[in-house]
Amino acid sequence: MAVPRASSLKKFLSAVSIDPSAYQEFLERANPVVLVVCPKCGRIRPMKKGLLKFAGRRVRNRHELRRRPDGRYERLCRLCSAREVGRKALRSVNQKALERHLRKEDTWVLEDDPPGIGRATKTTRSRIVRNAREASMGGPAKLARNRERFRQMVNAPKSAEHREAIARGHIVHAVLTRPFFLCHLCGLLVYGHRWHKPCALRSLYWRRKNRGDGHRPVALGRHAGRHAARNYRWLIRRRAGMSKRELLNESEKGLAPYRARQRFKRRRPSESTVTKAIAAFVRLLPGSWNLLLSVGGHKKHRRGNHFLQELVPLPLELHPVIESGARDALIRRLHSFDMPPAEIVRVTGADTQRIRRVIANIQTSATLRVKSSPSRSSPNDPA
Ligand SMILES: [Zn+2]
Ligand SMILES: [Zn+2]
Repeated sequence: MAVPRASSLKKFLSAVSIDPSAYQEFLERANPVVLVVCPKCGRIRPMKKGLLKFAGRRVRNRHELRRRPDGRYERLCRLCSAREVGRKALRSVNQKALERHLRKEDTWVLEDDPPGIGRATKTTRSRIVRNAREASMGGPAKLARNRERFRQMVNAPKSAEHREAIARGHIVHAVLTRPFFLCHLCGLLVYGHRWHKPCALRSLYWRRKNRGDGHRPVALGRHAGRHAARNYRWLIRRRAGMSKRELLNESEKGLAPYRARQRFKRRRPSESTVTKAIAAFVRLLPGSWNLLLSVGGHKKHRRGNHFLQELVPLPLELHPVIESGARDALIRRLHSFDMPPAEIVRVTGADTQRIRRVIANIQTSATLRVKSSPSRSSPNDPA
């Protein structure tokens, strides 16, 4: 039997517009290319499957590349790998230079501490090390010049590529400076603002058209709570390849004041805490990253949103939430404020079919109500 090659099957499926997910297993098996992701910076690139064995041999202590649950393999990208090698080399070069600049009678500072070392000895040691280190780097004048050069380099205009790299680093480390809110109209997460832009405009139109109407979009908005930022970080860093254990260890520092208060009954959060927190965050995500994190102003999209999309594709990620019907009430609510279906798609992440079905259900149930109890009829009441 002739078996189609993965690439030609993929081309065929897209030509006749068939959803390739049904063939995913076959495609994965037949596709001679795997995806490799850099655990340091999140860069994703394809690699020939045949090279897996050779790449694995170069991993220390493992003899194979680590495979993530999504089927991607972990391998440092060229830049991160060069950085790692360079840093190690620099450390040993620096150490050797330091040793060369120590006087013979001072070499004791390189040895391990004897058990009962006093404070005076510690101070002497750090003074000797500091002086030798300075001398090994070319003396104080040269160090000052280097520092100045570094400052200039940091402030210099950066290339587009360099900016990309910085943005990617920020995303993977989930750097946030402002809080999350729940949008007043849709109740979904929004970063740094009280509204999603389309929701704010929609409610403005509604209020202008229906002056004096009691139906107002005020009930849902509030601060998203102190865990939202942590949950965001967990979601992103988990998808970037960190284990739940690593995430918990990392956030122990962040929980310090809380922990100090509860020193006597300290509970260690379990890995299911991470799973639940991530699920809770996903349940509140809007249909696109550009709605959650927008910059407004002249820039359409925040730099780095496309890395987020690579890590957590929206609205795909919301599929189970929407299929469970958890967003149907929201669809009804947005429709009740005359939000057009295309915008409901954008905000909720539900597809047009589901939205049409939910809206049709409101209309049939409204007609039924009118038929069964004409006295209480209010067909225009969006309920
Ligand atoms: Zn990298
Ligand atoms: Zn909204």
